[in-house]
Amino acid sequence: MPPRILELLENGVVLGDGGYLLELERRGYVDSGSRREKVGTGRGSGQFTPEVAIEHPEALRLLHQEFFNAGSGVLQALTFFATREKLNRAGYGAQTEVINQAAVRLAREAADDRALVAGSVSRTQLFEREGPSAASHARDLFAEQIRLLRDAGVDFLILETFFRLDEMLLALDCAAKSGLLAVATMSFRPLITQCSDGHTPAECARAMADAGAIAVGANCEQEPERMLPLLRQMRESVKVPIAAQPAAFRTTAECHSFTRMPQFPDELETIQVSRKAFTAFGRIAKTEGIRYVGGCCGCNAAYVRALADGLAEAK
Ligand SMILES: [Zn+2]
Repeated sequence: MPPRILELLENGVVLGDGGYLLELERRGYVDSGSRREKVGTGRGSGQFTPEVAIEHPEALRLLHQEFFNAGSGVLQALTFFATREKLNRAGYGAQTEVINQAAVRLAREAADDRALVAGSVSRTQLFEREGPSAASHARDLFAEQIRLLRDAGVDFLILETFFRLDEMLLALDCAAKSGLLAVATMSFRPLITQCSDGHTPAECARAMADAGAIAVGANCEQEPERMLPLLRQMRESVKVPIAAQPAAFRTTAECHSFTRMPQFPDELETIQVSRKAFTAFGRIAKTEGIRYVGGCCGCNAAYVRALADGLAEAK
């Protein structure tokens, strides 16, 4: 068995994987929702759910294999947006158990004892629609999904793409009660200066570390160059390792989040960032002490390989 995640974080830079849902959408297996409704509002529409794990397992297995071949030391099970409530709205609520179980099994098969398998847990979208009164419902949903992931045998959790710190802290509490270790990364939008409920990156980092996260950081929404300043603020405010999984789409000085750009989701090809930006990011991350690096939306295996090149160059 490979060293557990804590040992990996202590011994060097952990190379994660890339983004699953957007890549599988490009390959024709995931619904972006763009034909039904205005996506990108953050208010909880039905797009980008992970039923591909049961409908086209061969496509998900292949993408895991590609990331593994590119050097990923952690494969994330595609359990993003797989809480029962989100799946309900996409018409897959009754398959909540089998989708979570199948996603973990597929990642485990590709990892083949040579990479770790992380369970991905993200925001419920209830806070966006209902406000903070959704807290107790959200907590129940996190507790259920984390129990499913633990029972399916994940090595640890990655709590990712949370817009609000209060919701992230609920998920971290559920993770702690489950006994699973958790890496916790927020997504900042529309600007990198604060999350949706008004906390700076430094405040988020401290709160997540205090809540028991083994590494804290950011994922999605920004390209590496745009994300770096917020990662540096986080690094200066905590002792735990910093984790970063940026997106591969170009944002602007006025809008720091690609899901708020007019090109989302049907013209993302026109704002794709080159993989060389990820080679540079790998180099900088290693030099600056970022301990977990991967890619999020827009990153296929070529981007993971580019990150690996950057990490190697920084030796
Ligand atoms: Zn993403």
